[in-house]
Amino acid sequence: MIIIMERNATKVQKLRVIDLLKDNGFEVRCNEGDVHTVIDALGDKTSLTPGRLAALEGVKEVKVIREPFRLASRDRKEEDTVIEFHNGVKIGGDNKPVFMVGPCSVEDDYNGLLKVAKAAKEMGCEFLRGGAFKPRTSPYDFQGYGEKALQFLRKAADATGLLTVSEIMDASDLDMMCKYVDVLQIGARNVQNFKLLHAVGKCNKPVILKRGLSSTIREFLLAAEHILYYGNQNVILCERGIRSFDSAFTRNVMDIASIPVIKKYSHLPIIVDPSHGTGQRYLIEPMAKAGLVVGADGVMIEVHHDPEYALSDGKQSLSIPMFKDIMKRLNSFNNRLHYEKTCLSANVK
Ligand code: PEP
Ligand code: MN
Repeated sequence: MIIIMERNATKVQKLRVIDLLKDNGFEVRCNEGDVHTVIDALGDKTSLTPGRLAALEGVKEVKVIREPFRLASRDRKEEDTVIEFHNGVKIGGDNKPVFMVGPCSVEDDYNGLLKVAKAAKEMGCEFLRGGAFKPRTSPYDFQGYGEKALQFLRKAADATGLLTVSEIMDASDLDMMCKYVDVLQIGARNVQNFKLLHAVGKCNKPVILKRGLSSTIREFLLAAEHILYYGNQNVILCERGIRSFDSAFTRNVMDIASIPVIKKYSHLPIIVDPSHGTGQRYLIEPMAKAGLVVGADGVMIEVHHDPEYALSDGKQSLSIPMFKDIMKRLNSFNNRLHYEKTCLSANVK
């Protein structure tokens, strides 16, 4: 349950609610907002009914959270979460969807990465993505260049005015990674690595949490809940496709419907990754558009300066000319869609 106190509720009234909850075995978290105090109560509702709480002095409203993902739920927070970066870029809410592009792995070739970063900036993208620690299915595949890759990523992003995204695989890398990245990514294979979720939950860096290879939507939101529970509210979800029975033509099945479903049940922003979602270059443009149509707050696309020689995911990576060509159309699509969603709907209201 969530208990929202009146704006002029006294300290005594708040303590009365908290004590009653604790006496009935609830775990209590008190959030002092600018206007209202919101008390989160986790426990067995049969021992203390919402009606009894609502009758207490100073209580404005009692909400029962129906979903197990309490903090991620729209029942708890109606308005969309918006994540703002130091350069003014925003993700979520009514903001125009952002683009995160770059190679699957940052390789030992700074100039190659810089070419991608320059193309990303030229095409209006906001983020440069690139893996330094790669969770590979085979131990014989390229595992990432580690900190050196992060140094390249930061340098190329600073040279072009972009923000950085890179995947964290191990909690012990957290402090080091936070020096280089603006957004931490938790990959599909670590979506239920709870210790890692808790570690990023204890810092304040924005986190992209990718949907697991076989996560249900509920499991996905509960994974996000672990991060929120430990304090970090800057969580961005990412639909990147799930494993199904037909992999003949696509690497994964991109669950487009998960985006509006998640928007209905959660206030967290969600982006779409058609590169991993489909594994096919020719599907990146249509599936990015599909994601934007159903409300994605951003798009992640793999781009490599020389895909044929990429050390990971070359087959699905766009070359720079392909990327520029597709981005021209994605930008105008994104602009039109955003105009319709915001300006036109504001006129109607
Ligand atoms: C990636 O972004 O390069 C990646 C490994 O993604 P995922 O975890 O979705 O497979
Ligand atoms: Mn990849």
